[in-house]
Amino acid sequence: MVSLLSLDPQTMLIMIVVSSFLQAGVLIALDLVANQYKGISIYMLAAIAYALGMGVALSPLTGDSEILQFLGNLLLIVSKVLIALSVREFLGKRTNLDLWGLTLAPLVFIQYYYIFFDGNYIARNIGLLLINVGISLILIKSVIQAKTHGFLLTSRLMLAVFGVDILFSLIRGLLLLDGESTRAIDASLANNFSWLILFFIDLLRNSFFVLMVSQRMYSELKEISEIDFLSQVFNRGALIARLEMLLKRQKIYPLSLILLDIDHFKKINDTYGHDVGDLTLKTIVELLKSQLQPWDLIGRWGGEEFLIVLSRCSASEVGDRAESMRRIVEKTEILYGTTPDHQLHCRVSLGVVTANSRSMNLDKLIKQADLALYQAKENGRNRVEYSVVS
Ligand code: GH3
Ligand code: MG
Ligand code: MG
Repeated sequence: MVSLLSLDPQTMLIMIVVSSFLQAGVLIALDLVANQYKGISIYMLAAIAYALGMGVALSPLTGDSEILQFLGNLLLIVSKVLIALSVREFLGKRTNLDLWGLTLAPLVFIQYYYIFFDGNYIARNIGLLLINVGISLILIKSVIQAKTHGFLLTSRLMLAVFGVDILFSLIRGLLLLDGESTRAIDASLANNFSWLILFFIDLLRNSFFVLMVSQRMYSELKEISEIDFLSQVFNRGALIARLEMLLKRQKIYPLSLILLDIDHFKKINDTYGHDVGDLTLKTIVELLKSQLQPWDLIGRWGGEEFLIVLSRCSASEVGDRAESMRRIVEKTEILYGTTPDHQLHCRVSLGVVTANSRSMNLDKLIKQADLALYQAKENGRNRVEYSVVS
């Protein structure tokens, strides 16, 4: 194994600075092409501040200039604070800036004191590490408490980076106590360990942030493309895609489909208005969902028509299930105003088809369900009609 002490700090510092600038470039690009959420621009600013801070704090040109050392460390602190603000904004959390300012002021003063008056490299670095640990802890808490549905994996990866960052800070703090480091380019165990690990932590945090933005965006776009806005169930395309996959599996048979259409829905729109029509649609979907098992599917087939897919549901069972759906709609009073007399009743007709094996394709099954639904309408509405396919 390569000894940590045989690494060259100067090369590592150059790598860190160059890679920070490149990563800031990637984040500027992210901000330009996918500025979809709060926090992305702030994260980009954090990356720029970090690259500049690293550049100033670690550059050989800075040398013994106290002002540049202070400026470099200040930029690093600013970048850490911006990372915290941006990730919290991204997660939908507000930050009390007055409180943060008050907490950070003494920590900035530590930098000021140990650069201009005492010149103690270890003390000011431990000051920086304290900020790092504090901010990482806050971020861990923020991620754990946030609603990360849709980007769970990548938010957990961020969480891991914050955890590793804390561990890194503690180890660097301990290693610094050996007193071997007086400048960033000293080839001490503390420095060589730190520059190597820091390189990976920064790279991973920035990569995971970009990934987290893309995963969140992908899941939201997927949801928009698959879920019907009004009824919040699958739209026709998404339901067909799922059904096609389902039909290939042997163990879902017998499979029953129910095509359900609201009776005289046009009259509801004409009598009470389109808004009440919309409310009626939503209410009926909620009633239908209450009748489903977790593995059943429901989707909006068209205007006021819904398709329900019941796996492992035989011709003898689907009758009861369709009948209970019809009944719950019939007996529910749909409230559309503030007073009890603002209520309406609504009925549905259902066409049912059951397939016992993979012999039928989707088009034929739907056609059979549609015929059964047509029969239900013909036979007086508010009823269930069946079609059995062997
Ligand atoms: P039937 O019993 O024969 O099914 O009669 P119906 O009035 O329900 O059927 P028809 O096909 O004549 O009318 C369906 C109506 O559903 C017409 C359309 O305006 C309405 N509709 C479709 N989508 C929506 C929607 O999203 N919101 C509202 N409010 N109405 C809708
Ligand atoms: Mg209708
Ligand atoms: Mg219809």
